[in-house]
Amino acid sequence: MSKPSELQTNPADFSGVDVYAVAGNPIAHSKSPTIHRRFAEQTAQAMHYGTVMPELDAFATVAKAFFAAGGKGMNVTVPFKLDAQALADVLTPRAALAGAVNTLWQHDGVLHGDNTDGAGLVRDLRAQGIALTNTSICILGAGGAARGVLGPLLEQKPQSIVIANRSIDKAHDLQRVFQALADTHGVLITVCPVDALGSQPSHAEIDLIINATAAGLNNDSPISDAIAKRILRPTAFAYDMVYGKITHFMQQAINQGCRVSDGLGMLVEQAADAFLLWRGSSLATQLDARVVLDELRQELAAKAP
Ligand code: NDP
Repeated sequence: MSKPSELQTNPADFSGVDVYAVAGNPIAHSKSPTIHRRFAEQTAQAMHYGTVMPELDAFATVAKAFFAAGGKGMNVTVPFKLDAQALADVLTPRAALAGAVNTLWQHDGVLHGDNTDGAGLVRDLRAQGIALTNTSICILGAGGAARGVLGPLLEQKPQSIVIANRSIDKAHDLQRVFQALADTHGVLITVCPVDALGSQPSHAEIDLIINATAAGLNNDSPISDAIAKRILRPTAFAYDMVYGKITHFMQQAINQGCRVSDGLGMLVEQAADAFLLWRGSSLATQLDARVVLDELRQELAAKAP
C-alpha cells in the first residue's frame, strides 16, 4: 500500500542519471512521466522522471526532501502550485504575476520557480492556427489556471479580454493583478459574472473562448446552453483546458459550429518548456512536442470505450 508522504521517487535510488518528478495529489492519472520520457528519447537525455504524491499539507517537506536527495527538477500540479510558489527562493516574473509555480529546479542551492502554463497554451493555440493579436478573448474561470495564462495571453496584444467567473470577486482580483500589464499592451480587460455573459454587445464578438474552469472534470459546463447560443459565433474557437474527452463545453461550441480543442496540447507544450528549462534550450531543435501530442492522442483514443 502506498504511503503518500513518502518520497515515491527518491533521487538517491537512481545513481548516474538526473532525476525529475511531478508532484500532485492525486497523481496516478498524470501524463507528465510519459511526456517527459518521450522528450528524453527524442533528445537522447539520460534521465528518470517519476511521480511524488505529498499529503495535502506536506508539499514543502516532500519537495525539500526530493531536492536534498539530489533531484534536479520538479513539475507541480493540483493542488500544490501555490505551495510551490511559496517554497521557491526566486521566481521568474511570469510566475510571480501568476502567483503559481508549475516548474521548480535547484541551481547552486537556490530553488527557482517558473510557470510555463501560459506559454504552453499560447504555443498550442498558435500550432492550431489561432490568431491572438487584435482579437476578442473570453476566459471562463478565475482560478490558478486562468491566472497562469493571462500574462502570456496579454503579451500577444489581443484587443480585449473579458474574464467571466462564477464568483465575481475572484475575477475582479485577477483584473487588478493584470491591469498594469494590460495597459502596457493596450488591451481592454473587463470582468463579468459568468451568468451575465451575453449581456454586453461586445460579448457577441468573441473570437476565442477559453474554458479555464474545473467544470469539465464533472462533465459540466460553466455556461448554460442559452448563453452558449448567445455568445458563440461559428467563427469563434473554443478551447477547454480539460483534456482527453469532448467536454460539455466543447459540445456546446460544436453545436454552434465552432472549432474546438481540448487542453492536451497545452499540457504537452508546458511540459516542453519545463524540459528545456531543465535540460537546456539548445535541445529545442531536437524536441518535437507535436509528435508527442499525436502519440498521446492515439493512446487516449485506443483506451476510449
Ligand atoms: P482552481 O480550483 O484554481 O479554479 C477553478 C475555477 O473553476 C474557478 O474559477 C471556479 O469558479 C471554476 N469552477 C469550478 N467548477 C465550476 C462550475 N461547475 N461552474 C462554473 N465554474 C466552475 O482550478 P485551476 O484553475 O487550477 O484549474 C482549472 C482547470 O484547468 C482544471 O480542470 C485543470 O485540470 C485545468 N488545467 C489544465 C492544464 C493543461 O495543461 N491542460 C493546466 C492547468 C489547469 P469559482 O471561483 O466561482 O469557484
